[in-house]
Amino acid sequence: MTVRLLKATAGLCLMLFVSGCATVPLPVSAPLPGISLNSVCDRYNVAWQFDGVTQVVLLEYKGAMAKALVGSPVVLVGKEKVILSAPLRRRQGIIYVPEDFESRVLAPFGGTPGRRGLIADMSVSKIRTIVIDPGHGGKDPGASVTGTKEKNVVLDIAKRLRGLLEGAGFKVIMTRARDEFVSLAERTAVASRPEVDLFVSIHANSNPSAKTRGVEAYYVRTVDKKDLDEDQRRMNEKAFAKNLNMEYSPLLAGIVAQMMYDHKIYESRKLAEEIAGGVSRDVGAPNRGARASRFFVVRNTVTPAVLVETGFLTNAQEEQKLNSGGYRQRMAEAITRSIIDYATAL
Ligand SMILES: [Zn+2]
Repeated sequence: MTVRLLKATAGLCLMLFVSGCATVPLPVSAPLPGISLNSVCDRYNVAWQFDGVTQVVLLEYKGAMAKALVGSPVVLVGKEKVILSAPLRRRQGIIYVPEDFESRVLAPFGGTPGRRGLIADMSVSKIRTIVIDPGHGGKDPGASVTGTKEKNVVLDIAKRLRGLLEGAGFKVIMTRARDEFVSLAERTAVASRPEVDLFVSIHANSNPSAKTRGVEAYYVRTVDKKDLDEDQRRMNEKAFAKNLNMEYSPLLAGIVAQMMYDHKIYESRKLAEEIAGGVSRDVGAPNRGARASRFFVVRNTVTPAVLVETGFLTNAQEEQKLNSGGYRQRMAEAITRSIIDYATAL
């Protein structure tokens, strides 16, 4: 009964929208009406303004203007009238546009999609909580050349990354926020917390050849059950069973767990490719690619995880860059963009 009523209401709304009347409110329980205007304009480099009194949204791109009205599906692009599949909506201060806003307004308007900006559209993000793991620390300096210590370089990048990711809308947990030794077991324990959606470890590289330079991102190649601690494995399997609303049974949970491990590898690889490509492009360093590794700090967890090698301290040029705050900021911004791209790709 309720379903039929909702369907009837939706049909009525659609008819009214098509005929130009757009003041019918959505049912209170309706899902989020589309994607946020801010994130989509950010990606197309289109500036926008909203007037709370008139409810008019003004878009601007290279001197060209477009006008839309919250509650209406009609957009004036220059002098051209475009009728969208649904009206613009404003909920809790956020303006939402329908799916076809991008292809029917922003693209004809002249905007071109670039790398996403530094604000995530949390309404579509599959990631909420991210662990940032600055490699090494304390008695373990990591790669160390001519006074530059990996542990210090990666901590600074990680702190910048934390600020940017929090600003973008994510919750961030750090495995260390100062110069201290953190064991692999402790890092894994943080990554295994139930609320964690993603694990990103930050490192700087070294190589016997001083010529070697560039960005690499590692993902776990296999998740072998033999590697897993027995308690950890049972905990993972119970969590999977719960996620799928299944009663826990060792056999069924084991099968589901294997699927989830496969999924972890798949997701980790996707993110590693995104980071290696995106970061090398953004900071202008060679892309040494997404690489599979079995020797991985978080092999024992099921959270998708990557390890970013931000550059080679054994290469004089990259060492000099990694010693500059400006370059470390660009590095952190590039990693943030890649994570946002990954987290909000549908
Ligand atoms: Zn390292």
